[in-house]
Amino acid sequence: MSTMLAAVFEGNGVLNVKTVEKPRVTKPDDVLIRVGAASICGSDLHVLHVPPGQHADPGVILGHEFFGFVEETGSAVTRFRPGGKVVVDNIMKCHTCAYCTTGMDNLCPNAVIFGQQRNGGFAQYCVVPEAQLMDMPEAIPSYLAAMTEPLACVMNAMRKLNPTPADTVAIFGMGPIGLTFIRAMKLYGVRRLAVCEMSAVRRQKALECGADLAIDPAREDVQAILLREWGETCDIVVDAVGVGPVFGQAVGLLKCGGRLLIFGQNANAVSQVPPAVIVRNELTVMGSYCAHNTFPLAIKLLEKSRAGA
Ligand SMILES: [Zn+2]
Ligand SMILES: [Zn+2]
Repeated sequence: MSTMLAAVFEGNGVLNVKTVEKPRVTKPDDVLIRVGAASICGSDLHVLHVPPGQHADPGVILGHEFFGFVEETGSAVTRFRPGGKVVVDNIMKCHTCAYCTTGMDNLCPNAVIFGQQRNGGFAQYCVVPEAQLMDMPEAIPSYLAAMTEPLACVMNAMRKLNPTPADTVAIFGMGPIGLTFIRAMKLYGVRRLAVCEMSAVRRQKALECGADLAIDPAREDVQAILLREWGETCDIVVDAVGVGPVFGQAVGLLKCGGRLLIFGQNANAVSQVPPAVIVRNELTVMGSYCAHNTFPLAIKLLEKSRAGA
């Protein structure tokens, strides 16, 4: 029996790196990939909370943000050959439900997700059906290739928000997703961009990524600072944290007609928001879940950033 190392979720907050059986190609459309790199998502950390903020089946190998190299292909695989560099679309949709058949397949209730219901990328190898794979350009380095999935998720949010150069923006939470949002907002040419983040290190990172203003929402009055520095609040607010209180703070930073996008998610978070503010100020509140046909867009952006554009 060939073996490999893998990080297995054992339930109740436990993640063990251990030797397991190496997966094999068993179906005609299977592709065995050697994992090149995998990144750690906030949702992986939520899975490991007790109680969990997100569900994964005990016994599964975690990791849904990863790329790799084709090792072996099933008899029906036509698009990939051994040695090819590929990235994994981590959500396997059913293609038959009401959402899948009406253009909302990212919301498929029957989806099977790598690293949650099916063995994922925190391992040396992973078997992935051909339909879940896309070519990853050779020039993209490993650390960026592993970020394709989160970037694809951010691009889904960006399409919903449709920022313009007239917009002022605030983003809560400067983890990898928040920082990715800064870069994306800059590409869309937004007028002003502030970030709200409690960690000084992350605030510094945000400024390096192009934020105009970095505020500590635990110590400072965000609205007062925006009014002092800019003379205005925001057209767009992104919540890339997903803990309850941010919802209320975010609503308070929006101008009339503003739009709030909630990206971070934690099943245990609750929030109190006065609904009258949403009515009176004609706010739009939206969620954005996973990637939605945005992997090709993310790959293009990675290529562009690689070219220094
Ligand atoms: Zn993720
Ligand atoms: Zn479906």
